[in-house]
Amino acid sequence: MKIITTPNPLLREKSKKVSTIDEEVLDTIAAMRKLSLDWEKEHPYELSAAMAAPQMGVLKRIIIVRDDMEDKKKATFTALINPEVIRAEGKIKKDYEGCLSVPSIYGMVPRPTKVRVKAKLEDGTEVRIKATDELARTLLHEIDHLDGVLFIDHIRDDEKAFYKMSDKGDLVPVEDYESEIRDNEKLWND
Ligand SMILES: [Zn+2]
Repeated sequence: MKIITTPNPLLREKSKKVSTIDEEVLDTIAAMRKLSLDWEKEHPYELSAAMAAPQMGVLKRIIIVRDDMEDKKKATFTALINPEVIRAEGKIKKDYEGCLSVPSIYGMVPRPTKVRVKAKLEDGTEVRIKATDELARTLLHEIDHLDGVLFIDHIRDDEKAFYKMSDKGDLVPVEDYESEIRDNEKLWND
């Protein structure tokens, strides 16, 4: 298992609902947790906040979300199965987003600041989550993955809102973003 990156067409597929939480589903979740932390070891300035199953090529509606997004030492994740946005509200705010599947590119993405999500936990319990700000953003980003949507899709061409992480961990504006990512993706799809 490895993290797949753009322009891999699997990232553009719609994932299937999980009907039974069986061994295979639990193995997928375990692999997601492991991959997220492996990735983090190779990216000293970044935190692996969340991940969706299609990012390792598994087209199932499963995401994992870090329980503590500030402290790298706290490396636990909650898995959400068949997560669904019931309501998105509040102001639309722009903030930085990155993605394990869009290597080293960050963008300013507009998102609503409040969401309500329903999902199942690994043990089958149904949960409803009321999230704001960073957690709301993370949930929307991950649930997008289950429908083949990437954060770059929310950024209009004219906004020039892309950044790259320097060797020192600073975000610097990217000028040639189109040629780096979108054109690649077009080539792959044609
Ligand atoms: Zn992502």
